[in-house]
Amino acid sequence: MLESINFQELFADLGLESTIKGGNLVCPFCGKHAFREYHDNGVARCHACEWAGNAINLVKEVEGVDSVKAAEAYANLIHIEDNERHSLYKATRRLADDLDFLAQARAYFAFYKSARMGAPYYQQQSGYSRSHFTKVLNGQPDKVSAKSWKEIVAFLRRTINVGQLRKDMMMGSQYWRECIKDEALLRESVDKFR
Ligand SMILES: [Zn+2]
Repeated sequence: MLESINFQELFADLGLESTIKGGNLVCPFCGKHAFREYHDNGVARCHACEWAGNAINLVKEVEGVDSVKAAEAYANLIHIEDNERHSLYKATRRLADDLDFLAQARAYFAFYKSARMGAPYYQQQSGYSRSHFTKVLNGQPDKVSAKSWKEIVAFLRRTINVGQLRKDMMMGSQYWRECIKDEALLRESVDKFR
């Protein structure tokens, strides 16, 4: 849950300056525009004063409350927001849709086994680590943050065409027979001029 916290929203909730410049927030501890959040692990770090921690550490230090109270306060905040944003039903259905799509994406990568269309190529394009990308592709929402999940699934939906996979898999034996014929012709021609 902590990994899915958006520090900019958290800053706004806490009444702190929440503008982002060059990818950084204003550090509440030293006042410099050097506070950066790391989406993969829920940790933020200030590159000016070296403060580092997660959302609970931040709430605790800004508000001066103990960490259990901070966790409870923020858990309540998230819960209320989640209820407002989408019902459990919608969230479950969306996750099931994602898992269905990812099953097709795995079939896609297995079917088009080439350097251009392979999973490693898309992993690099996504900007995410191989570990994160693989966990999402394998349909393990419990292993990554909600933000990584959403971004990687959205990226794959944008870049690969699983409809094409269905089409190519349903060509029928006539299509493949023609492919064999063409290949034989090609081989013959190449042999002739070798
Ligand atoms: Zn700082």
